[in-house]
Amino acid sequence: MDLNDAAPHDWQEERYTLQRLLVRTSLFAAGQDGTIDTLLDNLRNALRHESCELDSLRRLQHDLDEALERLDGKRAHTERQLKLSLTSLLAVFEETGETSRKQYRALEKQIDKLELDGEAITTWLVDLAALAGHPDAPTSEEAGTSRQEARGWRRLFSRHEDEPESAAPQPTAQLQPTASEDSESEQRLRIARRIGELLGHVLEQVSLEPNAHARAVHLKQLLDQSYEWSELRDALNEIVDLVIAAVSRGRSEFEDFLKRLDERLAALKANCEAQAEAGADRRSATEALDQVLSTQLEDMGTAVSRSTSLDQLKASVTRNIQSISDSFRDYRDEDCRREKVLEEKLVAMQEKLAGMEAYSEQVQEQLRTERSRALTDTLSQLPNREAWQQRLQLEFDRWRRYRHPITLAVLDIDHFKKVNDSFGHKAGDRVIQLVAKALCDRLRTTDFVARYGGEEFVMLLPETDIDVAYRVLDDLRMHIAGLPFHFQNQPVTITVSVGIVPFGSSDSPEELFDLGDKALYRAKHEGRNRVVRA
Ligand code: GH3
Ligand code: MG
Ligand code: MG
Repeated sequence: MDLNDAAPHDWQEERYTLQRLLVRTSLFAAGQDGTIDTLLDNLRNALRHESCELDSLRRLQHDLDEALERLDGKRAHTERQLKLSLTSLLAVFEETGETSRKQYRALEKQIDKLELDGEAITTWLVDLAALAGHPDAPTSEEAGTSRQEARGWRRLFSRHEDEPESAAPQPTAQLQPTASEDSESEQRLRIARRIGELLGHVLEQVSLEPNAHARAVHLKQLLDQSYEWSELRDALNEIVDLVIAAVSRGRSEFEDFLKRLDERLAALKANCEAQAEAGADRRSATEALDQVLSTQLEDMGTAVSRSTSLDQLKASVTRNIQSISDSFRDYRDEDCRREKVLEEKLVAMQEKLAGMEAYSEQVQEQLRTERSRALTDTLSQLPNREAWQQRLQLEFDRWRRYRHPITLAVLDIDHFKKVNDSFGHKAGDRVIQLVAKALCDRLRTTDFVARYGGEEFVMLLPETDIDVAYRVLDDLRMHIAGLPFHFQNQPVTITVSVGIVPFGSSDSPEELFDLGDKALYRAKHEGRNRVVRA
């Protein structure tokens, strides 16, 4: 159909469609170059207007043509630069005798045919590395890459005095064209700089992770500026690692995955081993799990080594992980059951223990009571003779150490026999109780009073010399003499006699008591109802 025959509205429709198509196509083309992006922006603006000026569209087309030409030129330049870098790099290897002439030619030919993408470049680098390390080694197409090659690269950069490998020849010897030490290090420096420069170019072309990229920039700076051979050598080695890392990135990601998996399994296994100590029952269960795990891991290893593709490998690993996790679930269920039984046993044991504790508390309380009973006189509720002996010894030891004044007193109720005889034994007991109470009430809490036996009492008055003790006991004596006893409606006067003796009068507590007792005897003898000093 002749275009001139088309109806005017069809022209309009066609024009809009073309405009829309152009806008979309321009969006696809964006993102390659800043100048081109701006021009495409302008083009889209122009197309969106109802009526676009033909002149401005022509100007735009002209500018775009120029920009595209420049972009093509830039691409060609980058490609040339990269190929030059690779050729120079290859030359270094040839200079140092790391490649044979035949290998050199083969690699040189490959450079011409190289596509400008990271994949092709890294494959070429791997081939070069393989040849540099092992002239007979398989190339990237044939076998595993990465670590093996690194050794070849390192041989080139390592100092000949470092780590000689007995089996391998000394390739660095070929870095010494003259006998002079100076020219040798100069040569080394020159080669290092060049390799650094070339590898730097290569690194710009291959894809690196952001961290690795920053590191590469830093290393490049070091290689441009440093004169320290060891520093240069380390930087070169690190650059080699970075290149190899870039080359084998996909592969190492999978290696990392396997490594992490391995670590996790190792942690689980360690955990199982730790738990195995919890008991024999559990130990055998853990051993069984361990056995299952080992088998599964072995299977996994076999599958990994037999897999020919990454997908197959991943599928196999995923399958094995599922089976391992199943084993763990079974183990955990069984473990929960064991734990429940153990917990029940533990609760029962705790109850038993609580019962035993209560019983022991009861027994202890009983012992305390009995012990206190053993030291207390039932009639007077005062400490008894046994308690007196213990306390006397204690105060005597204390006095020997600190020599603080302390007085011992022995007190006896006068003519007590008469009370018993006249008013009965019960009245006698009552007198004993009342005298005991008077002693307790009148003496200080720091003083000690005990019923020695019968109607006889003994006292210890710490921090009290003999004169003060005399006054205290004489007051006490008078107080007892004034107590209003009544038996069978008869007022009865009760008196006491006291013998006192200060510590230091004797070398033993027994002798001290004897001295006090003798003083009491004198008090009786001198007419009773009195206090007498030893
Ligand atoms: P003296 O003034 O010389 O001490 O004369 P005394 O009568 O108090 O001395 P003696 O030692 O001759 O008598 C003490 C009596 O105390 C003898 C004993 O029957 C009586 N006696 C001893 N223990 C108790 C007791 O626990 N209760 C009663 N009621 N009497 C007791
Ligand atoms: Mg008496
Ligand atoms: Mg007596």
